[in-house]
Amino acid sequence: MGNEEKEQNDKMWHTAAHVFASALTELYPNVKLAIGPPIEQGFHYDFDLDEQIDEEKLAKIEKKMKEILKKKEKMEQNFLTIGDALEAFKNNPYKIEMIQDLKKEGEKEISTFTTGKFFDMCKGPHLESTKDIGAIKLLKISAAYWKGNEKNKSLQRVYGIAFKTQKELDEWIEMRKKAEENSNVKLGKELDLYMISENVGKGLPIWCPNGTMLRMQLQDFLTKEQIKQGYSFMITPHIGKSELFAKSGHLKNYKEMMYAPIKIDEEEYYLKPMNCPFHIQYYAKNQRSYRDLPIRLSEMGTVYRYEKSGELSGLLRVRGFTQDDAHIFCTPEQVKQEFNSVFDLLVKVLSTLKINNFRVRVGTRDPTSDKYVGTPEQWERATKEIIEVLKERKLNFEVNPGDAAFYGPKADIIVKDALGREWQTGTIQLDYNLPERFELEYIGVDGQKHEPVMIHRAPFGSFERFTGIIIEHFGGAFPTWLSPEQVKIIPISEKFIEYAKKVQAQLMGAEVRVKLDDRNETLGYRIRDAQKEKVPYIVVVGAKEEETGKVAIRPREGEQQVVSIEEFIEKITKEIKEKR
Ligand SMILES: [Zn+2]
Ligand SMILES: [Zn+2]
Repeated sequence: MGNEEKEQNDKMWHTAAHVFASALTELYPNVKLAIGPPIEQGFHYDFDLDEQIDEEKLAKIEKKMKEILKKKEKMEQNFLTIGDALEAFKNNPYKIEMIQDLKKEGEKEISTFTTGKFFDMCKGPHLESTKDIGAIKLLKISAAYWKGNEKNKSLQRVYGIAFKTQKELDEWIEMRKKAEENSNVKLGKELDLYMISENVGKGLPIWCPNGTMLRMQLQDFLTKEQIKQGYSFMITPHIGKSELFAKSGHLKNYKEMMYAPIKIDEEEYYLKPMNCPFHIQYYAKNQRSYRDLPIRLSEMGTVYRYEKSGELSGLLRVRGFTQDDAHIFCTPEQVKQEFNSVFDLLVKVLSTLKINNFRVRVGTRDPTSDKYVGTPEQWERATKEIIEVLKERKLNFEVNPGDAAFYGPKADIIVKDALGREWQTGTIQLDYNLPERFELEYIGVDGQKHEPVMIHRAPFGSFERFTGIIIEHFGGAFPTWLSPEQVKIIPISEKFIEYAKKVQAQLMGAEVRVKLDDRNETLGYRIRDAQKEKVPYIVVVGAKEEETGKVAIRPREGEQQVVSIEEFIEKITKEIKEKR
């Protein structure tokens, strides 16, 4: 979703939230409304009501909303003084609290919106009128604490969504159904890819053998591509001394994302939230010259970051994860070339994974602010070069001024999956700060000391998040090279187990990942099981196959075929090698 599209959706959903509140108030005049913001998909509304809303009541509210929409009412904004606002909302403790909060923040006026008979405090923005909402649906009922704090009262929460047309709503419902079927949490369990154990902890996924195999394939693929680009590889510890993170600035700027220190021999150590300070140690180990640069250090580095427990979800948001990280140390003159080769890698990775739809969000300096390190000239040059690279490659991109971190401009990668959903995956980040903090240098052509530029980059982002996304993107039906199990052999009856084992051994010898299903179940049952596991090839063997030295292969897509074992091995190993 582009920025404009998101703004438009937010307006639509925020307006729909008002229509919901309006319907709720008409049906339950004693309801106390709390908040109703637009969210990623639709809106939610929190309210305090003695009566519990159930499915039946939800349907009635939805019906009332549709009646209200028929009136095509304008959203009219007015401003009240704090005193008038406190009077207008005197029966609603939540609004009173919000008005008091706004007053504390220095607000002098409270913005309100009127839609027909309904009136509420809100700063907008909304659609101009409810006439642009063509279809609306209430989705589910749940609960939420006031201000998200469990010490506060638990409120009822209703989720809903709205679109301009019924067609868009129908398409969204269809997409959501598919998304639920393909969710990484559901498929992760069914395909035995990963697990979250309460005994280990929230947000700390355990990679099951199937998931580990998939991850190893991704890692292997990425390693080989990086070798082609001249990267070196490193492995660094999971913890480091507090002095290291003080010097890097993490303890100052990133502490709320870090876990409490571990004391060893009277010294404090932290779990690393990033790999950069470790790679810097290696750079700083020797005197570097311009001839050594660029130095590209890559690590599948495991980091730990604090995420609130409410935000943890499957593989997409976790507390311990492994980045496909690298740090490129280069001269300012090399930045453009390095960005170019990072994009080479990125395009190669995404196209191999059949993710052909992605865009780049460039975060640049806010010219009016002085919170940045590095000179304005450095920033200007780097930003210009990043944009040149994107233009030359004809990539789809947008520029967000002021969206950069204080230490350098960046490019975030946003991919669109098979269901049209967008995910932020990789990132490329320029850094003028760490080289300065660690006093990194190289001897330039002029024989003088200069400061190198650092580029942090991770094309996947993390293995956890990226795997979560590709599970959903492929709906669990991975291409053969990525599939944890590539072939399932099913003998028609126990008479053919010996032959099946012979076929299995030959495939294993060719490094094909193959399992034998010789359970005492019917053929049909075992085939259906293998289909549920989404194995790319099912191989059935019986009398005819044994006599002729052949196998009957059923690809996940396509026609059944009978071929010799050798032919099958040639076909499948070629497919794996070419990552088709
Ligand atoms: Zn509003
Ligand atoms: Zn880094």
